[in-house]
Amino acid sequence: MAHGKAVSTAVSAAAAKAGSPTAGAPPMFRRMALIGIGLIGSSISHAARRAGLVGEIAGSARTPETVETAKRLGIISHGFASAAEAVRGADLVIVCTPVGVCGRVAQEIAPHLAPGAIVTDVGSVKAAIVRDMAPHIPAGVHFVPGHPIAGTEQSGPEAGFAELFDGRWCILTPPPETDAGAVAKLKLFWERLGSHIELMDANHHDMVLAITSHVPHLIAFNIVNTAAHLERVTDSEVIKFSAGGFRDFTRIAASDPVMWRDVFLNNREAVLEMLGRFSEDLVVLQRAIRFGDGETLQTHFADARAIRRGIVQAGQDTAAPDFGRGKPAAATSDATAERSKR
Ligand code: NAP
Repeated sequence: MAHGKAVSTAVSAAAAKAGSPTAGAPPMFRRMALIGIGLIGSSISHAARRAGLVGEIAGSARTPETVETAKRLGIISHGFASAAEAVRGADLVIVCTPVGVCGRVAQEIAPHLAPGAIVTDVGSVKAAIVRDMAPHIPAGVHFVPGHPIAGTEQSGPEAGFAELFDGRWCILTPPPETDAGAVAKLKLFWERLGSHIELMDANHHDMVLAITSHVPHLIAFNIVNTAAHLERVTDSEVIKFSAGGFRDFTRIAASDPVMWRDVFLNNREAVLEMLGRFSEDLVVLQRAIRFGDGETLQTHFADARAIRRGIVQAGQDTAAPDFGRGKPAAATSDATAERSKR
């Protein structure tokens, strides 16, 4: 596992920060079931074990290979071929699959859910998840949708690490009628995974994430492909001379194609609205360049720079130039090297 060293060295400090219970205290959940054991599912497992939040961890995925890998890495203690088997006896079920299959998963697990269990998800879109999952959840089981605002461009059970959620936001979007005790318990669970929590309406979540995450990914996918088409003309110059900005786009564009296909298919209205606004603002810049309007360009760039400074001041990103990647590999500490791979 690529992150093993960084994970183990950071365990005690981060666990203390996350408020892990004292030794011997019962875990918050007796049995957690992970449906989907990729980057997010495996990171939840690592972080939950770090903080001593769960007893057993059951899991299922699409393929037997992933279940085997997750067992081998200790991410799950019990592996199953189907989601229905995995959720039996679980008091916490977390659906960590691509958004497009969450409805089918909810339908499959519904008859096997234990009374009083909490069912949640981690999907990057929330209104479509509520639409697709909520109708299947039986009475007496609590459905509390969620979205950790934390991730990397990597996928699969080997990509996960315990620190992924440390200091990051997790948004919960419980429908108004949701049991307050279940919401409070899931909130505490995510806090102990290391996150800050915000409760939000699902539609509002989708609008906010459309501009902060979904449209930026679409821009990255598009600009990398535009450059790739050029590369056929100019040989390897696009790669050879790629500056930091373009390299950052290629990192974002390396994200999982299935996950992102499902995000755009399931957050259509909000993404189209934000894309429209983006295109209008782009035309303003295009006109300023065409007509030599330096004042407009400089004002736009200064405003954007102020926003970046605000993000750094809020502790949401590093102030290091080039995100701290500027040092030659040999001079970089192990921990920094691990982080830069994410
Ligand atoms: P991932 O690494 O690609 O893992 C996806 C997992 O879902 C895999 O274990 C896959 O199994 C399983 N899966 C796929 N189809 C399934 C099905 N029909 N039934 C059961 N399992 C199935 O993806 P991820 O990055 O963890 O993302 C998972 C969810 O988290 C997505 O909804 C995404 O929107 C959300 N999210 C992602 C990020 C991020 O940065 N990646 C951040 C926040 C939230 P196989 O391995 O066998 O195919």
